[in-house]
Amino acid sequence: MNPLCSRCNLVVYPTEKVNCLDKYWHKGCFSCEVCKMTLNMKNYKGFEKRPYCNAHYPKSSFTCVTDTPENLRLKQQSKIQSQRPSACSLL
Ligand SMILES: [Zn+2]
Ligand SMILES: [Zn+2]
Repeated sequence: MNPLCSRCNLVVYPTEKVNCLDKYWHKGCFSCEVCKMTLNMKNYKGFEKRPYCNAHYPKSSFTCVTDTPENLRLKQQSKIQSQRPSACSLL
């Protein structure tokens, strides 16, 4: 039994098979999720079982909401208030 390509769902034959990220891909289907640049075992970056090129690999800074000083202050306040109201006297 030949596995199915994780990108196009067609059968992957051994000659064109790429086994990566616990899945099988056609060589041509193993490409960056964003720009579709064809990747190989050497230059791909895996993220959540999807291949990305170096430029589009989702870095944590892209998804995290930036902690502005104001945000941090609000976070700290709500934390203190929900835990121990008496800790407010420390401020
Ligand atoms: Zn494919
Ligand atoms: Zn890319």
